[in-house]
Amino acid sequence: MTNCIFCKIIAGDIPSIKIYEDEYCYAFMDVMPLSKGHTLLVPKTHREFVYDLSADEAANLFSAAPKIAAALNEAFEPEGMNLLNNNGAKAGQSVGHFHLHFIPRYGAGDGFG
Ligand code: ADP
Repeated sequence: MTNCIFCKIIAGDIPSIKIYEDEYCYAFMDVMPLSKGHTLLVPKTHREFVYDLSADEAANLFSAAPKIAAALNEAFEPEGMNLLNNNGAKAGQSVGHFHLHFIPRYGAGDGFG
């Protein structure tokens, strides 16, 4: 999709710090992290909401999720991690390309929650 910021990131037209990539998905550091290591996982095909993903697309994304979470755990050594997905403006979605947040948690003072 031409005007989608995450499609531009996937295409390499907007810079990002890549965490993971395969045939179906791309993960990169959030530009305004809620905590150290905050990462986003997106499908390479533009999909707006979780409702728009096919079962195969969802399976491809979620099969990458444990690898990304494990890498973040190893790199940042948080005490926990939230995986979060917002669908629609009322739910807090500001970018209309499906994305799964990985938010490492460090306990009191991690600036989130
Ligand atoms: P919210 O903005 O309320 O967190 P979303 O769930 O839609 O809503 O999350 C969009 C995320 O995309 C935000 O965490 C934001 O910091 C991130 N983001 C926006 N633009 C970029 C970018 N160019 N590179 C990396 N992350 C981005």
